[in-house]
Amino acid sequence: MDTDKLIKLLKEGESDEFKIEPEKIEAYEIISITDIDVLKSLCEHIDSFKKLSLPETWAASEDRQSILGCMDYLNKYLNDLNEHKCYCVRYKYLEVDPLNENDDGLIEISELSKAIGGSVKYICKCNGCSKMLEVTHSLDGMGLDCYVWHRKN
Ligand SMILES: [Zn+2]
Repeated sequence: MDTDKLIKLLKEGESDEFKIEPEKIEAYEIISITDIDVLKSLCEHIDSFKKLSLPETWAASEDRQSILGCMDYLNKYLNDLNEHKCYCVRYKYLEVDPLNENDDGLIEISELSKAIGGSVKYICKCNGCSKMLEVTHSLDGMGLDCYVWHRKN
């Protein structure tokens, strides 16, 4: 089953049919899920994802190492998600633009400050779990946007 079908099943709570086909898993799409019910349902299946991090799951090829790296990342995310069941867990993994998240109603930016060197700091609140988040936006050496998210305690 592909990632879309998997998300659909999680949404409907049809977990009996839940089966992972490694070559159809798109880590990025899974980490991008923001529906809290789907995320909670996903947490009930995190053990099914563990095999994705095993070398024997994948055929030996020159891509295997990068696939395994990607699947490790996905499993790290899932463990974090299992601990703190909210979509804001993904910010650490995807480094998204807080302005878009604010527009989508996922977070609320409460403070914005310009720091030295042209970087911008945002203080936001997650609308899912009320946790405070801090984001630093700067440009990397290539002039590309770089967002570093921290959850504040
Ligand atoms: Zn949250």
